[in-house]
Amino acid sequence: MTTKWMYNFGQGKAEGTAEMKNLLGGKGAGLAEMSKIGLPVPDGFTITTEVCTYFYDHNNTYPPDLQSQLNDAVQKLEKTLGRKFGDAKSPLLVSVRSGSRVSMPGMMDTVLNLGLNDQTADGMARLTGNGRFAYDSYRRFIQMYSNIVLNIPLKKFEVELHKARDRAGVKSDFELKDHQLKDLIVVYKRIVKEESKADFPQDPQVQLLSSIGAVFNSWMNDRANVYRKLNNIPNNWGTAVTVQSMVFGNYGDTSATGVAFTRNPSTGDSNFYGEYLINAQGEDVVAGIRTPQQITIVGKIAQNSTLPAMEETMPDLFRQLNDVRHKLESHYKDMQDIEFTIQEGKLYILQTRNGKRTAQAAVKIAVDMCNEGVISRSNAIMSVAPSSLNNLLHQTLDPKAKKNVITKGLPASPGACYGEIVLCADEAVEKAKKSKVILVRAETSPEDIHGMHAAQGILTTRGGMTSHAAVVARGMGRSCICGAGDITINEEAGTLVIGKTKLKVGDFITLDGSTGEVILGKVNTVDPILSQDYHTLMKWADETRRLKIRANAETVLDASTARKFGAEGIGLCRTEHMFFDPRRILAFRRIIVAESDIDKQNALNELLPYQTQDFVDLFKIMKGYPVTIRLLDPPLHEFLPKEDADLQIIADLTKLSLETVKNRAHSLREENPMLGNRGVRLGITRPEIYEMQGRAILNSILQIKKETGETVIPEIMIPVTFAKKELDIMNTMLENCVEEIRKREGITLKYIIGTMIELPRACLLADELAQTADFFSFGTNDLTQTTFGISRDDAATFLGIYKDKGIINSDPFASLDTSGVGELMKIACTKGRSTKPHIKLGVCGEHGGDPSSIKFADFLGLDYVSCSPYRIPIARLAAAQAAIMNEKERQQTGSMRPKF
Ligand code: ADP
Ligand code: MG
Ligand code: MG
Repeated sequence: MTTKWMYNFGQGKAEGTAEMKNLLGGKGAGLAEMSKIGLPVPDGFTITTEVCTYFYDHNNTYPPDLQSQLNDAVQKLEKTLGRKFGDAKSPLLVSVRSGSRVSMPGMMDTVLNLGLNDQTADGMARLTGNGRFAYDSYRRFIQMYSNIVLNIPLKKFEVELHKARDRAGVKSDFELKDHQLKDLIVVYKRIVKEESKADFPQDPQVQLLSSIGAVFNSWMNDRANVYRKLNNIPNNWGTAVTVQSMVFGNYGDTSATGVAFTRNPSTGDSNFYGEYLINAQGEDVVAGIRTPQQITIVGKIAQNSTLPAMEETMPDLFRQLNDVRHKLESHYKDMQDIEFTIQEGKLYILQTRNGKRTAQAAVKIAVDMCNEGVISRSNAIMSVAPSSLNNLLHQTLDPKAKKNVITKGLPASPGACYGEIVLCADEAVEKAKKSKVILVRAETSPEDIHGMHAAQGILTTRGGMTSHAAVVARGMGRSCICGAGDITINEEAGTLVIGKTKLKVGDFITLDGSTGEVILGKVNTVDPILSQDYHTLMKWADETRRLKIRANAETVLDASTARKFGAEGIGLCRTEHMFFDPRRILAFRRIIVAESDIDKQNALNELLPYQTQDFVDLFKIMKGYPVTIRLLDPPLHEFLPKEDADLQIIADLTKLSLETVKNRAHSLREENPMLGNRGVRLGITRPEIYEMQGRAILNSILQIKKETGETVIPEIMIPVTFAKKELDIMNTMLENCVEEIRKREGITLKYIIGTMIELPRACLLADELAQTADFFSFGTNDLTQTTFGISRDDAATFLGIYKDKGIINSDPFASLDTSGVGELMKIACTKGRSTKPHIKLGVCGEHGGDPSSIKFADFLGLDYVSCSPYRIPIARLAAAQAAIMNEKERQQTGSMRPKF
């Protein structure tokens, strides 16, 4: 069996399908699918990603039978179109386009107008009677090919193009006449000869092979590598290469090229949204060279554009494009980002993909499309990336703040921010270490990615809503204003002129990415107001998910925030955080160093009312929702100061000598605190602290009972347990407290005792632990540390290399290691349930807010996950997606939810 290396499309047919993204890349799969559903797609074929993988596995060489398959594919194209490579009378011209599984905007290279040479350019000129067009295409080809294949800097050509425009006294490239373009081509070819020490290749077969090679090579270029790192795209996916017959947007005034979104990618409103340029080719629209025109009249008004909209100038073509829009949306069941070209009044679609959008738009589009009946509720829930909700929680300008708006650009990506002006990407990265920065540029390119990442916001003077800056900023969740035309940048001098205002690098400006306003100085920002669509989507998510979502919170502020975001209880209240309060830390330090029982008791008595009030406050905020309180976890030395002056304060308070206090501190220091005297081990060795905490919890529910008559049943959680006996000792201690209160107050209080599961031994003996424990909460941070034997704080030095070498796929502290740590969790669930079938199970720790870990928690059938307050919305949506995905997988495999 020979491997099929290429797949044809065109003429309403295709060998590929939309599902074949892995093999054909997103672009190739999209072209195949569009061809199949009858959209006007120029004919072509896609060389698979497997060739790319082969190429890199075999020392940059191709499979032996690639050439023959390529010849066949080209011949087929020639036959269908009645054109021939290199034929002066009727030349076949193609584009060579890159395309990986997931879109990597502008990361890899595309060559247009391939097949042109001295003869075919003349031939095209004669054939079409349009010399300007033929030579414009040729000079573009030389420029692109030289840059991408021969690595000659674009600047060399751009300088000459500039000169040609100046000589001709025109502003735009398309105003250059045939002979002026021909002269330019002579200059271009001279540059090629000088730079590459060879003539510009005239043979289309050579042009084709080298261009294909260049696309494969571009998979490993620096830009692409950085992009993949940032977006977690594996290197071994490879890119496909699509070879497609050319259509020309630069043919004349009835030709154009454009990009469009089927809905507004910034706000999500259901208006068709796009830009086009007459008599232009390829990336001209996004390159920001000329100011593009709007597709719709609505868009024209919204953008304050003075140029006519396509809806006005080409109403017929607009209608056709609008039909394509509807067809694509209902076919793909998602908002699409499309690229099109019009040649002499005929429309061609060159690309479609699911459109990148702001989080705000994603939510609105999901809810709208569901309400329109285009997609189901599950589709709507699945269509919003949980982590993108982060962006909704974005800041907006304080409405009460004064603002001095110095100019306005396009509102390309929402969110308000301020920062120091920087003018280049490297500087942005450097300065962002110490301060907030705003990256200001004429336009951005993929070389600026790291700077955009480091900046709070991005401001450009050129380019539209679909420019590189806009697309990338939306993807990253940075606020962005584009095309702020009355800003002049002087990069060398490090200055900006905005109208009458002169600014320099380091001055503060504020951006409002939602309005496009650029404001002088720092303006305070405030929390956002969440939209009705957001609440609708969240309601759907809440109705879909099975997991409960709790918060990790110990302060009144965190607990209230958590409730506001929809937390259904507290999954982890870390009591040690309460001791760090300046009013309490000294009392706690006295307990630690005290030598006499009386001193100790006095200090404990001082802390008790504070702790009691802490819990009263939490229970009140969490009205009726469960609250899990973990008793003291970290080793004691973490609470002691290091400086002599601070130790002296403790010495004075305890009337001990500085020497004694220092000795106490020294004796508490541990070689490996993570594995030292901490958690329940302190409960065993320093019982007075746990006892005080237990008493504080019980006192607090007593107080609430007395004040409101309500009964709260606290969940008391014992950390770092590895034996049932530890829990038993703690339980007896708590029972004694209950008994004491019963004797004193005549009220019998109830509590639930449980344990963190964060040691492999606890997993393995979970059936025994469950005899005493009423609940388990997986402390997945420590369970990951103890399972891998890796300290999270030291992991940074080697985990990166482990990832690069493919030993691990992702950071196990960010995403739960389902195969190792997960296996232990399974054992713990099974064993725990074998003792207590309905034992309450949850996850606390960082993983509780991570979508893929949440999916695993749902798979295990846990009761809840607990995460930080600001991740609650993310966890709610992720839990709904987890329920949908796991259900689908169960149906596909015909399995039941695992019974452990
Ligand atoms: P990218 O992945 O950077 O978007 P593309 O392969 O989509 O690169 O090419 C960029 C642009 O070049 C397209 O949007 C389209 O305008 C133009 N283009 C590509 N192939 C053709 C073609 N066969 N005919 C006309 N224009 C083309
Ligand atoms: Mg591009
Ligand atoms: Mg494209």
